[in-house]
Amino acid sequence: MTTTEKPPEALAPLSLQPDRAFTDRLTELAGDSFSSCYQCGTCSVVCPFSAQGTHLPRQEMLFAQWGLENELLSSPNLWICTTCGNCARLCPREVDIPGTIRAARDLYVAARDIPRELSTAFESTSRHGNPLGQSARKRAAWASGAGVDVPVMAKLGRRVEVLFFTECYWSYHPRGIEAAQAMARVMAALGTDWAILGTEEQCVADSQRLAGETGLFEEAAAHNVETLRKYEFGRIVTPDPHAYNALRNLYPHYGGTYEVQHYTQFLAERMDDLELHAIPQRSVTFHDPCYLGRHNGEFEAPRRLLEAIPGVDLIEMGHCREDGYCCGGGGGGMWNSSFVADHVDERLAEVRVKEAIGTGADVLAVCCPFEVSLFEDALKSTGNDGKIVVRDIVELLDESHGPAPVAGGASAPG
Ligand code: SF4
Ligand code: SF4
Repeated sequence: MTTTEKPPEALAPLSLQPDRAFTDRLTELAGDSFSSCYQCGTCSVVCPFSAQGTHLPRQEMLFAQWGLENELLSSPNLWICTTCGNCARLCPREVDIPGTIRAARDLYVAARDIPRELSTAFESTSRHGNPLGQSARKRAAWASGAGVDVPVMAKLGRRVEVLFFTECYWSYHPRGIEAAQAMARVMAALGTDWAILGTEEQCVADSQRLAGETGLFEEAAAHNVETLRKYEFGRIVTPDPHAYNALRNLYPHYGGTYEVQHYTQFLAERMDDLELHAIPQRSVTFHDPCYLGRHNGEFEAPRRLLEAIPGVDLIEMGHCREDGYCCGGGGGGMWNSSFVADHVDERLAEVRVKEAIGTGADVLAVCCPFEVSLFEDALKSTGNDGKIVVRDIVELLDESHGPAPVAGGASAPG
């Protein structure tokens, strides 16, 4: 170096410092488990989006640790996670990854514009009590087509054994209505003492909570707890694993403590009382809903129902039980499909139906109201329509408990 040359500038000190204010806000909402993350990357490998795009929960946990608010909240990844829980299941540091992502969404929803489809679902829930934007007055309209009596609590005026919490997709979605009507016929065949809330019921809103709208969830919980307080019942049965999760695990914090069962659990205890016959579809594969299986530990009840149908051969997919593959509908994914599709190579439901077809089964059986329409759409969008049939388990049971078919196609005399 000559004397005329200037000495090199001293390296500027690293300006990156953890933003404690942001990490404190996250910790308040989700606990501080994210601070234990040591960046092993397991979560990113097992996340179902890892092979479909850029969703990297490891990176999000790093942003959370450093309080990098803009990096965390501006990433499209924030809206892609379905809170399926596969990452948390395998994290060696027991980091609550979905809970941390949910907390970040909470902070985002409070301050910024969210994806349009999500905001539409939130507004519909707030205005109509359901994310489909349907009239609250028509919530029990499905019952008139069931072919059996569907009692309503307010009209019955007495205690029932089972209060059936129908939830939104079985109340309004055309394929959900078919399942709800099948459920009513099965309940009638069992002689169950049951009733629905009808127009008094509102969305449980657990998926809205997981998508960042805790306020909406709390309003819905207050309404539903107040309504349920008016009636006497033995237990709540619901077809929706998300409602099951909230009614069972969260409503006690809002003043509502109940015995809650998913409909597969309720029916699995009563299969001996139902006369079942063989159905045309013999080979069936089953998709575990994340919020029934991984989040609440119920893997057997749906399988017991399927295996109770004479002649049914249950073929498991490679991803099943604890290692089940998410359908893409949880955590707000049900209403966010265009946004997600713009950021992934293939939607999760599309990957999943291909796995189901690969088993060679005739039927893809489901027991979450989101899944029938997600999988049927995915069969169409992947050009696989007709290669497998998507049926709710209760539709198969309804088909199976009718009069035994006789030769020539006529029904047996009742
Ligand atoms: S698996 Fe757990 S410890 Fe490993 S990177 Fe993910 S959050 Fe961090
Ligand atoms: S909860 Fe599921 S979708 Fe979300 S980061 Fe974890 S594995 Fe991925």
